[in-house]
Amino acid sequence: MASSVLRVAPPEELLRPLAVPERLLLGPGPSNVPRRIQAAGARQLLGHMHPEVLQVMDEIKAGIQYAFQTQNRLSLAVSGTGHCAMEAALVNLLEQGDTVLVAINGIWGQRAADIARRLGANVCELLKLPGKYFTPQDIEQGLVQHRPLVLFITHGESSTGVLQPLEGLGELCHRHGCLLLVDAVASLGGAPVFMDQQEIDVLYSGSQKVLNAPPGSAPISFSERAREKLLRRKTKPPSFYLDMGCLANYWGCDGEPRRYHHTAPINSFFSLREGLALLAELGLESSWERHRANCILLCRGLLDMGLELFVEEEEARLPTITTVRVPEGYNWKDITAFLMDNHGMEIAGGLGPTVGKVLRIGLMGCNSTRANVERVLGALRDALQRCHRSRL
Ligand code: PMP
Repeated sequence: MASSVLRVAPPEELLRPLAVPERLLLGPGPSNVPRRIQAAGARQLLGHMHPEVLQVMDEIKAGIQYAFQTQNRLSLAVSGTGHCAMEAALVNLLEQGDTVLVAINGIWGQRAADIARRLGANVCELLKLPGKYFTPQDIEQGLVQHRPLVLFITHGESSTGVLQPLEGLGELCHRHGCLLLVDAVASLGGAPVFMDQQEIDVLYSGSQKVLNAPPGSAPISFSERAREKLLRRKTKPPSFYLDMGCLANYWGCDGEPRRYHHTAPINSFFSLREGLALLAELGLESSWERHRANCILLCRGLLDMGLELFVEEEEARLPTITTVRVPEGYNWKDITAFLMDNHGMEIAGGLGPTVGKVLRIGLMGCNSTRANVERVLGALRDALQRCHRSRL
């Protein structure tokens, strides 16, 4: 280095080969990526305005319309993860001073409230204990009391393992002059959602859960009602990157010639396209049924081991992510570390309000199999024998 102008040497660690072990990802996401989707992401790059890429984007749009069960023209994937879609929804829907009612029964409502506050919205909170869901009566009370323009609610609450019933909520919101915004990052493809029939105004998801694609692109769709709110804005959305008007043009949703907005993560789009294609080939109903059946098997196995499920009501359990209470005499970190070290398997501890209280087991997309249920139950049985605090 003596004669070099460089003061920072090439890092030793980068001169070694990339290390990526094989691991079974049974946490709340990401889930494992099947070969076909991996191969799509590894294809040669094309330009972001090449007709073949625009064609793939059109195919993604059709895949989102199928997965969301919507005819919405304004359906696309934002270039980012689930949080990016959450920001895109709020940044476009809300203007300073707008009242938003956020249903909080876990971390995702907390996050949405945080984002909305940063946007200068008037944020009202509707609270439920973690592990519980909102009834239409809860929602109506909130709508009457706060008169919001937007209601945020989480379909698959992955920090608690709760599946929020959506039936009737859209109609209720519309009766009270409010738009319904739903987070389906953890539930899409794993539990039924019908964007148009359920009158959901903005729905978003992520790529790395049931769709089994790498994180980095997130489906989102806006109803006509939501689109009208965007058109009525007095101010531009405070984010250029997530401005739905610009994105709608790039995605060919506005009937105008498509213009460059940003260089899309093209290979992520290839992967997302294949994730959506796999879901279309399997069929939504089969996918929902597969997640339901394997979740039931898992829950039975956990109960047979003497463990306690965090969500008491069977119908309220999220089919993609199961929360089980950390048993007496154990530290959750010992269990997750044991599974990782001895079984090459990831499960997760709690998140937000469930930290220290639960373990979270995800069975999503291609990971939702009977064999994986048996594997994780076997590994947990092993962990319960080895990780008791009295033995450590
Ligand atoms: N919402 C829910 C319900 C989620 O489960 C997640 C991811 N765990 C997110 C939003 C955020 O997604 P991401 O981590 O991809 O940004």
